[in-house]
Amino acid sequence: LRVIVIGGGAAGIFTAINIAEKNPACEVIVLEKSAKLLSKVKVSGGGRCNVTNERHLPKELLPFYPRGGKKLYPVFKKFSTGDMVEWLSVHGVKTKVEPDQRIFPVTDDSQSIIDCFLRNAEKFNVKIHHSVAVEKIHFGNANWHLETNTGRFEADKVIVATGSSQTVWNWLSDLGLHVIDPVPSLFTFKIDDERLRSLQGISFEQVKVRIVGNKLSEDGPMLITHWGLSGPAILKLSSLGAIWINEQHYDFEILVNFLSGYKEQEVRELWTDYVNLHPNRKVHKYPLWGIPGRFWERLLSLAEVNNGTSFGEMSKKSTNKLIEELTQGRYHVSGKSTFKEEFVTAGGVDLTEVSLDDFSANRFPGLYLAGEVLNIDAMTGGFNFQACWSAGWLISDSISKSIE
Ligand SMILES: Cc1cc2nc3c(=O)[nH]c(=O)nc-3n(C[C@H](O)[C@H](O)[C@H](O)COP(=O)(O)OP(=O)(O)OC[C@H]3O[C@@H](n4cnc5c(N)ncnc54)[C@H](O)[C@@H]3O)c2cc1C
Repeated sequence: LRVIVIGGGAAGIFTAINIAEKNPACEVIVLEKSAKLLSKVKVSGGGRCNVTNERHLPKELLPFYPRGGKKLYPVFKKFSTGDMVEWLSVHGVKTKVEPDQRIFPVTDDSQSIIDCFLRNAEKFNVKIHHSVAVEKIHFGNANWHLETNTGRFEADKVIVATGSSQTVWNWLSDLGLHVIDPVPSLFTFKIDDERLRSLQGISFEQVKVRIVGNKLSEDGPMLITHWGLSGPAILKLSSLGAIWINEQHYDFEILVNFLSGYKEQEVRELWTDYVNLHPNRKVHKYPLWGIPGRFWERLLSLAEVNNGTSFGEMSKKSTNKLIEELTQGRYHVSGKSTFKEEFVTAGGVDLTEVSLDDFSANRFPGLYLAGEVLNIDAMTGGFNFQACWSAGWLISDSISKSIE
């Protein structure tokens, strides 16, 4: 039996190794368009490779996948994050868990994952062809036929693991698969606003950001950058709202509650208590609720509070303005930017085209799809790679069973 994996990225190499390890009699070939394998793994997680996440119950994982979601329940039931940690351990990579539950190799070096994959690919006789780009595939005479820039290949089974490639989506569409238009996910918000100017580097531990015009909101840390806003709350929101935001042409408004745990009314009550307790304290000297000093000052000047004003002297108008800015600061987003060059693509082959029991194409026997080529994507935290590992494992299992 000959299996060809198209794409030597995370999903492709992991799938190839597992097929070869479980089926020594199988000829497993990887065709990779570029000169390098696993190039995204190399740069992932800031060069450390956030390989998976400590959350391991399928139910816990689902909310992290805006595209995929509940449909992935049976997938993670069969191969979850814990299974990947064990796989890595068995195949020679020790991992560690960080306080935020992200998992990395103990070496803090993505090369450890690459070395492990390449070592095991060699051990199980996976044949790798570099600089071979697949240009078209079709099924005929009980075989898959692949046309590439270097000639033709034939295979009994084909796994498409080409990541986000428009050319591949085009030929998959021609083959008859429904492809959902790709849009970027995991980006930061470009905001040109007086309130944020020159404040890059200031971070907030816990804010709530809501998109005006839909019901999406996210909590978490947020960071002011020189082009706008970034940090986990923003990235998560970009992932949840990827499609809607694209429809708005990256032009929309957000409301930021810098006091995430509190509603406006509660803040007003706390304010009154504080003023009664410390009427003579100078407002500029006492930023409340852990608001960073420089941002506090910016908001005070916006609320027209002069330097030297005490809490007891604050006018009603200024107090209202300050509380409004703190609990529902309205910002106009006018574009997107990448976060440490980290991004994924929402969209790809529609999940109705595959059986999520084994990632086989429903209408094309012997064809499988894994990784970002599918309409599955997640928030940051190792979840995007996990989708690749789980698919690869299930495909390899399915191929073993088909041979038995
Ligand atoms: C900077 C950055 C950092 C990231 N960090 C993390 C992280 O820490 N944790 C995490 O979970 N996710 C991370 N991600 C997301 C993660 O990298 C992707 O989800 C993952 O790489 C997808 O794997 P894949 O195998 O589907 O696609 P890819 O890794 O993109 O691999 C696809 C491969 O297919 C090849 N190919 C394409 N077309 C053809 C063709 N026609 N013929 C032959 N070969 C072809 C490509 O050259 C490529 O090598 C990061 C992404 C980026 C950009």
